[in-house]
Amino acid sequence: MSPQIVEFTTDKRFVRRARELKTIEAMVRLYCRGHDHSGGPPLCTDCAALLDYAARRLERCVFGDAKPTCTNCTVHCYSADMREQIRIVMQWAGPRMALHHPILSIFHMFDGRRPAPMLPVKQEQHPE
Ligand code: SF4
Ligand SMILES: [Zn+2]
Repeated sequence: MSPQIVEFTTDKRFVRRARELKTIEAMVRLYCRGHDHSGGPPLCTDCAALLDYAARRLERCVFGDAKPTCTNCTVHCYSADMREQIRIVMQWAGPRMALHHPILSIFHMFDGRRPAPMLPVKQEQHPE
């Protein structure tokens, strides 16, 4: 699906992003538990830092509630290191989500099918 230009939207109810945060949290927890990381509860230091980072990115996402899933994003605001870490977590936890969190998993699948938006191009200011 080709990218669409979208204007920023911010839904004060934060619905979609709140759901995405729950999904990421569930995935990081599954990953942390599944790898016997010590240092909880509920997460080890590294996984807690990754979740905290992802939560901050989500909160400040320039697309507001029109955001695509981060995998489909046309901007990619994550640092290279964090992007790689979250990719590893998602790759491992993704297939396990359907079993442990079927509802979140279904919503995430639908969210992933939404067209990836692009940011509007800033208009150049011409002096009158
Ligand atoms: S990667 Fe893209 S969609 Fe995800 S939080 Fe950053 S800007 Fe938003
Ligand atoms: Zn961990």
